[in-house]
Parts: sequence; structure tokens; C-alpha cells
Amino acid sequence: MEQTYDVIVVGGGIAGYSAALTLKSLKRSCLWLGAELFGEKLRAAEYVRNYPAVTGSGAEFAARLEEQMRREGIVMTHGRADGIYAGEPFTVTAGDAVYTARAVILATGVSHRGAVKGEENFLGRGVSYCAVCDGALYRGKTIAAVVASGKYAHEVEYLAGFAGCVHAFCLYPNPAFAADNVVVHTQKPLAVEGGMRAERLILPDGELAVDGVFFLRDAAPPAALVGGLETEGSRVKVGRDLSTNLAGLFAAGDLTGQPYQYIKAAGEGCTAAYSAHAYLSGRGV
Ligand SMILES: Cc1cc2nc3c(=O)[nH]c(=O)nc-3n(C[C@H](O)[C@H](O)[C@H](O)COP(=O)(O)OP(=O)(O)OC[C@H]3O[C@@H](n4cnc5c(N)ncnc54)[C@H](O)[C@@H]3O)c2cc1C
Repeated sequence: MEQTYDVIVVGGGIAGYSAALTLKSLKRSCLWLGAELFGEKLRAAEYVRNYPAVTGSGAEFAARLEEQMRREGIVMTHGRADGIYAGEPFTVTAGDAVYTARAVILATGVSHRGAVKGEENFLGRGVSYCAVCDGALYRGKTIAAVVASGKYAHEVEYLAGFAGCVHAFCLYPNPAFAADNVVVHTQKPLAVEGGMRAERLILPDGELAVDGVFFLRDAAPPAALVGGLETEGSRVKVGRDLSTNLAGLFAAGDLTGQPYQYIKAAGEGCTAAYSAHAYLSGRGV
């Protein structure tokens, strides 16, 4: 039987790290799950001038965090969560892997790259953020994928294994796919439209009829990951203690709203860890 953790922290950025670090000091068992360690948002910063004691680039900042991870024995498990199911315990799925925990801290950041007008209106009705979860629903169909980066090329190829045709709208240079039924587009769609389901993409020069649209980018809207989670626009609604409307689920970092800053994300990771600890201790939050 797999271990049920006290807390699963989802998201490999600074908010997730700070939560994992704090949970360790609180002696809570924790699985820290991230698609990548200190992703592009940390490593790409040219010079960090607003985080106490950091005087260097984002890459140097990441190197110092990794050094601290080694010293503190913090390990990130690589994986992209594709479903979080509230319950006692919570279940978190990441591809074939299934994890359980008594509480979850969501720290998946925000990604507006590749966001298209109307996409959130069709969540679960023809719009998906997970090729592995939903690809098989589109056997023989015509689908579109709005692809934020080349690292998702294998997901497009995975979709091509089911679909009749995949129209890949690639927001990065020199896209290439090892599948004959992928049509590459270099323009960004303007909107998703339809009735009960997503039915077409509006393009700068016309329309494309589709059976489904996949958005492949770093962070899916949180409501796509956790059913029943209350959001306000792209932001998760949280209390001052970073609790959400779902008991035992907390959120931290950019996904709770502005300001988008390392210090705010790290601070919230810490607060969310204390709140999860209090929740697990039966003291409420
Ligand atoms: C180029 C650039 C420079 C910046 N410079 C500064 C600066 O100098 N100072 C400053 O204060 N702020 C800066 N920022 C803002 C700062 O990067 C963010 O506020 C901060 O990174 C937010 O941290 P986070 O942990 O909430 O989210 P993120 O850093 O976005 O981390 C979230 C992580 O979760 C992962 N993830 C997403 N979905 C899943 C999933 N389903 N399963 C598992 N993992 C998932 C993502 O891959 C990502 O790595 C900069 C941003 C950019 C883009």
C-alpha cells in the first residue's frame, strides 16, 4: 500500500519549495510534486533586485535554492499533476502515478502564454489541458492544440495517435512533430466558440471547425485541475490563511493573485504550510 502523506505540495516553483521546506521543519510528511524544478520564471530573471539577500540572476538564485535543498534534504518528485480529487484522503494523479494525502497545497503558478478568449467557458466540454487524460476521447476526430513550447511536442504526438487530424498552433519557433496527421500553424487563435461544446476556433483569417481543443502550457487554470474549486478569473479564491473553499486544500503563490513576486510566493508557501499543519492538527485554520 502506498504511503498517504500528510501533505502533497503541487508546483515546483518558489511557493511550492517554501511550502515543502516549512512542512519539513514542522515534521510533516510531504510529497513535493513539480513538472520542473524552479522553472523558467525563476531561472530566466536577468537580475533579482527585490528579494532579501539575493544579488544576482535568477539562475544564481536557483543555484542557491538547490544548495539549500541539498543541505535540508528536500527532494522534488518530478511529475505534472493532471487531477486533484478532494476527499479523505485527497488523491492526486500525475500520468500513471497516483498519490494520496490528507491535505494539498496548490502552487502551480499562472501561465497566460497561449491563453485564448473563451477557453474557460468550455472546460470539460471540448477544452482540455491534459493530452494523456483526455486524448483517447478524440479517436478519429479533428482537434486543435495550442502549444506554448516545444517541450509539449510529445503531447501533440500522443494526441496524433488517437485523432484523425491535429491542428497544432505553435507559439514558438521551428515546431516539428514526428506524426503525419499534425498540421502546423504559426498563428495564435483569437477565440474558442461553440454552443454546448467547443466547436470552432476563430483565427485571424477565418475559422476552423474542431471537435476539441487542447491547451498545452505550463500551468492550467486551477479549476481545470481541481473540481469544485472556487476561482475569481484566473485566481484561486483564498482566505488570509490561504485556505480555499475545499477543506484541506490550500493555495500559494502567483495563482492566488497579484503581486507576482518571489517574496510573496515564498511567504505564501510558508503560510499555507502552517495552515495545513493546523488543519491536520485539528485546530482548524
Ligand atoms: C522573466 C521573469 C522575471 C521575473 N523576475 C522577477 C524578479 O526579479 N523579482 C520577483 O519578485 N519576481 C519576478 N518574476 C515573477 C516571479 O517569477 C513569480 O512571481 C514567481 O515565480 C511565482 O512563484 P510560484 O511558485 O507561485 O509560481 P511559478 O514560479 O510559476 O512555479 C510554478 C511551477 O509549478 C509547475 N506546475 C504547473 N502546473 C503544474 C502541475 N499541474 N503539476 C506540477 N507542477 C506544475 C510549473 O511548471 C512551475 O514550475 C519574474 C517573472 C518572469 C517571467
